[in-house]
Amino acid sequence: MNQKIECYILGTAYTGSTILGEALNMHSKIAYVGELSRAQGYYDLHRFYNSPDGCMYCHIDGKSCSIFTDNFLKGTNNYSPAESYLRLRKAYNKPVLIDGSKHARWLEHVLKQREDISGIRAIILAKNPTSYLSSCSDRGIGNMEHEATVWRDTYFNIFSLVNLYGLPTLVIRHEDFVANPEKILRKITNFLNLKYEKRMVNSKKQPLHAIGGNPGAYIGTFDIDRISIRNKKLGQKYFDVNPIRLTSKIINTSKAKIMHAKYMKIILETPSLIDLYRQLGFNIKDL
Ligand SMILES: [Zn+2]
Repeated sequence: MNQKIECYILGTAYTGSTILGEALNMHSKIAYVGELSRAQGYYDLHRFYNSPDGCMYCHIDGKSCSIFTDNFLKGTNNYSPAESYLRLRKAYNKPVLIDGSKHARWLEHVLKQREDISGIRAIILAKNPTSYLSSCSDRGIGNMEHEATVWRDTYFNIFSLVNLYGLPTLVIRHEDFVANPEKILRKITNFLNLKYEKRMVNSKKQPLHAIGGNPGAYIGTFDIDRISIRNKKLGQKYFDVNPIRLTSKIINTSKAKIMHAKYMKIILETPSLIDLYRQLGFNIKDL
């Protein structure tokens, strides 16, 4: 019998948590639940996101979800996170649940309500800050100096929280996962006391019933036109796919180089950012 584990992915937006969650969800003992803190009741309480959300897969598919039902989503007004996890565990029938909410304050909310935190784990997921600024820019977010401080403060707060509670923690860099998914998935399954399963890197994914996340991760599972139509209908605020992924624009390499140099300058001029960058295991030469 496997130990019941809740594992919280922590990090900034645009770190590839949905893509990682999709791969983890392929494991027979793991369910990726997505951004649980975005269910109506928790959204009303915390407002970590622009909007509440439900199952992204069923949303794109135009169907109602059998796991994240309207009753469940509205019920989060009354359920504590622990009660929600009990219900979700029954619905998925898997011992390990992964939460992709990413906010340290959400995990802090969960931890404050628990007496026994022995089944709680954290994965700190990070993407190079130059790529993070680029993802912000693609979405029309303008103040890069501010976003650089957001990146820094997010990881600073995460390290403070996991150290305060002494949580078992694993740092994963998005770039390492993209370069060698199997190596990283083996690392994560080991961390969760599970055996690695080959089907985790199978390109034919099973449906991912998870709250919110990056709609771009569903390109491939669904036709890109279907994702585009949803994006046009709902708008960027409610359906936050990277607009660049929906166009066939050729990337202008000289412009990209200029932007990269601009991001590097901002990163180097943001106090303490490089310290956090190195703490996360990144190399200066990869900036
Ligand atoms: Zn669903």
